[in-house]
Amino acid sequence: MRVSILASGSSGNAILVSSEETHLLVDAGISARRVAAGARAAGVDPDDLAAVVVTHEHSDHVSGLGPVARRFGLPVYATGGTHDGMRGRAGTIPQRVYIEPGREFRIGELSVVPFVTSHDCAEPVGFSIADSGGRLTVATDLGLVSGAVRRHLRDSDCVVLEFNHDEQMLRTGAYPWRLKKRIASNVGHLSNVAAAAEIAALRDAPVADLVLAHLSEENNVPELAVAAASEALSRGGRRDVEVHVAEQRSALGPIEVRAANVAAYEVLREGA
Ligand SMILES: [Zn+2]
Ligand SMILES: [Zn+2]
Repeated sequence: MRVSILASGSSGNAILVSSEETHLLVDAGISARRVAAGARAAGVDPDDLAAVVVTHEHSDHVSGLGPVARRFGLPVYATGGTHDGMRGRAGTIPQRVYIEPGREFRIGELSVVPFVTSHDCAEPVGFSIADSGGRLTVATDLGLVSGAVRRHLRDSDCVVLEFNHDEQMLRTGAYPWRLKKRIASNVGHLSNVAAAAEIAALRDAPVADLVLAHLSEENNVPELAVAAASEALSRGGRRDVEVHVAEQRSALGPIEVRAANVAAYEVLREGA
C-alpha cells in the first residue's frame, strides 16, 4: 500500500491511498483538477480511482467532493451524519454509501475501518485502512485522542496524525478568542503537545512512518511540529521512525506502507 497526502490543512485536505489494484481518496477538499494532477504525480490514473471515503463535512474536507465524485464516477462513503451535514456544501453526489463507526467495509483490495473522532461536526470519523502488506491510520480533526483512536494508532505501520497548532502560537496569535477556544477544545484540533504525547506512547508499536498532518498555517510552523514529534519518538527510544510533514500547498509522498517492523514488533510483544 502507498499513501500520498495531496493536501493537508485548514484550506483543503485529500489523501490518496493505493494498493496494487485499488485506489481511494480520503476526503476531497481540493479541486478535481488538483486531485487528478496529484494522482498522476503519484503514478495513479485518476480514472482508476474506486471511491472517496469522507471523514466529516467541514468544507476543507468536502469542497471538491461533488466535482471529484462526478468527474471520476466515484461512490462516496460517509456516516449518515456526514452525508446529511454535507448536503448543500459538497454539490451533487452520484452515489452515497452509508458507513458506521467500528464496522469494517471493503473497497476492492482495501479493508477500511471507520472510527469515531471528537470534533465539532455531525458524525466525524477517522479511518484505518489495510491491505495484505500493511496498515495506515488517518486521524486528523480531533480535539482529543480516545482509547479507540489510540488502538488504531498502535496497530498501524503508517500513522497520519494531526499536529494542528503550537499552544503558545494559538494563545498569542491573531485569531478571535471564540475561535481560539474552539480549536483548543476537546472537539477542536490536536496541539503539537497533545499529538506528541500519543506518539511517545507508540514506543513498542509497529509504526515505521509518521506523517504530521493538518498543520495550521496561522498557529504552527513545521519546525515546531517536527521538534515535538522527534522529541517524543526519541523519548520512546524510537529513532527508526521516519517523520514526514504534510503540506497545504504541495503533495507529500507516495510513502510506502509496509509492515517492515513486524519481526521487531513480535519480539517486543512476546517480551511484554
Ligand atoms: Zn480540517
Ligand atoms: Zn474539521
